[in-house]
Amino acid sequence: MKNKQRDMQLQSYTCNFVNAQKDIPVGTNHLQTILAKKQQEKILNLFHADENLWNNWHWQINNRICSVQTLSQILPLSDNEIQCIKKVESYFRWAISPYYISLINPQNPQDPIRKIAIPDIKELSADGEFDPMDEAGHNPTGAITRRYPDRLIINVTNACGSYCRHCQRRRNIGTQDFVTGQDKIAQSIQYIKEHTEIRDVLITGGDPLTLEDDVLIKIVAEIRSIPHVEIIRIGTRMPVVVPQRITEDLVNGLKQYHPIYINMQFNHPQEITPQSTYACNLLADNGFVLGNQMVLLNGINDDKYVVQLLNQNLLKIRIRPYYIFHAKNIIGTTHFRTSIQTGLDIMKHLRGNTSGLAIPTYVLNAPRGAGKIPLNYRNYQELSDGNILFETWEGKKIILSKDGSLVNE
Ligand SMILES: *Cc1c(COP(=O)(O)O)cnc(C)c1O
Ligand code: SF4
Repeated sequence: MKNKQRDMQLQSYTCNFVNAQKDIPVGTNHLQTILAKKQQEKILNLFHADENLWNNWHWQINNRICSVQTLSQILPLSDNEIQCIKKVESYFRWAISPYYISLINPQNPQDPIRKIAIPDIKELSADGEFDPMDEAGHNPTGAITRRYPDRLIINVTNACGSYCRHCQRRRNIGTQDFVTGQDKIAQSIQYIKEHTEIRDVLITGGDPLTLEDDVLIKIVAEIRSIPHVEIIRIGTRMPVVVPQRITEDLVNGLKQYHPIYINMQFNHPQEITPQSTYACNLLADNGFVLGNQMVLLNGINDDKYVVQLLNQNLLKIRIRPYYIFHAKNIIGTTHFRTSIQTGLDIMKHLRGNTSGLAIPTYVLNAPRGAGKIPLNYRNYQELSDGNILFETWEGKKIILSKDGSLVNE
């Protein structure tokens, strides 16, 4: 009888999530895939292209939408919206791949992908800093950012498949695509060779997967040839914005240099589509270890059920949620910021309500390049008698002694 009651109680916890899910758009559901297919046809007509071209990642990059005129033929825009985009684009560039734009539901003014991809007048707010992380100040040589004892970042390009309005690297994005020069890459690799304490190298950008296969594979091969480098990581959003980029050729080329970890940035369940699922399966089948680094974004995923659903759906395509980033104070993106409390509430909800595998670490990138700070909600408090009062995931209070044995419930 007692077990039965407990069963019912546990079941009741899932009700709110089940209800909330009905209102969260998901990229793999029937309605959403039909909408995207319709938009795809519209775009192909506009560009006089066919499905073969659609599936070609070069075509996707070369035909990124970056004029209001083209955009208004794909999505209905008011005169005001058109004027706002024109104002914003003279300060911050924008470009959206045909694939990513096809995922926007034209009928939903609150569409999460629309908010991520389409310029907003709020970007012109004067708030925020240019380089709060002082990345420029942590660059010993070449294209390196180093803040930690045993690992560093090498920045190989500033190009991306689509530009995110919330980009936390907006400083690098600039106004034109450029690939980091051969000399800077060579200097960076030389630095890693000379620093035997570096065992973990992150290749990032921009988006490294916008490089041609041979260029990227050459960089990876050179890093792999350094004996003290244990793991290589690639940070990319291409599986989200241009999943066509994950080709057999790329995967076969890169997998010679395992262990390679690939961290992506899915921010909303609507971004997980049949195409991105296919791309991630190809990567996972070929031994890449997949992680996700979500950015916590006001009006997009600052909701515990959206994050729960996103993380559960990521696990289904073998991506382990790794980090949730608290949005930094970066010029042009401050309207996406949330309070730290919003993030902590989400983390508190996840613990217990979903698999531990679906729970990433919530981190803040400390200003001035002081490194990542994990943000944890307080679930314990030391008592005057030396015991510790804990709160369980359900909010039950228990008192434990210093060595963790039960004192009192
Ligand atoms: C985030 C970051 C890393 C990687 O940190 P992990 O916690 O190991 O994922 C490395 N270098 C820099 C400069 C970073 O900002
Ligand atoms: S893909 Fe990454 S680097 Fe590129 S615009 Fe988006 S957040 Fe910025």
